[in-house]
Amino acid sequence: MLNVIIFGAPGSGKGTQSEKIVAKYGINHISTGDVLRGEIKKGTKLGETAQGYINQGQLIPDSLMIDILASKFDSFKDSKGVIFDGFPRTIAQAEALKVMLKERGQEVSIMLNLDVPEDELMTRLIKRGEESGRADDNAETIAKRLKVYHNQTAPLIDWYKKENLFVAINGLGSMDTIAADLFKAIDNL
Ligand code: AMP
Repeated sequence: MLNVIIFGAPGSGKGTQSEKIVAKYGINHISTGDVLRGEIKKGTKLGETAQGYINQGQLIPDSLMIDILASKFDSFKDSKGVIFDGFPRTIAQAEALKVMLKERGQEVSIMLNLDVPEDELMTRLIKRGEESGRADDNAETIAKRLKVYHNQTAPLIDWYKKENLFVAINGLGSMDTIAADLFKAIDNL
């Protein structure tokens, strides 16, 4: 299986580029943010819990996220691979992902880090908020999410470097140029 982590700050283009990777390699997509927004829309208990954190720009507790991730992963049958979009976001999640995959005879193939400067992230997220109406894409919550990213998620860069899985990708430029760089990295595996 091809197990790809697409990594980067909020607004770095993980969702957009995941779709391109899914189309090219025929793998399954797990966006933990989309899963949570789906639960909120359905009005489930999980959605209710998640909403409080999301609206505050905070992360959902690791134990809950890890269970959600594993059950989504196990829902795919005869999968060629998975792209993990928005997971892991903490060291504990990265460790749990490694264990979860190992238990299934799998491992992470590559971690692709979309590198985008902070001022560009802010511009993109404000624009996305205006266009999509995503509740957490407002200036105040964006600032909190970027802070959470720097404090809790960015340390994963060093973690994956140590695992020899880290590849940096320039996240600035046209969507197709960025996609081509991502494909090249995957094809090099
Ligand atoms: P995203 O769509 O990936 O930007 O996620 C939106 C929000 O969902 C985040 O700001 C978090 O509140 C929550 N979330 C998504 N993925 C995770 C995760 N792996 N761990 C904790 N919280 C998450």
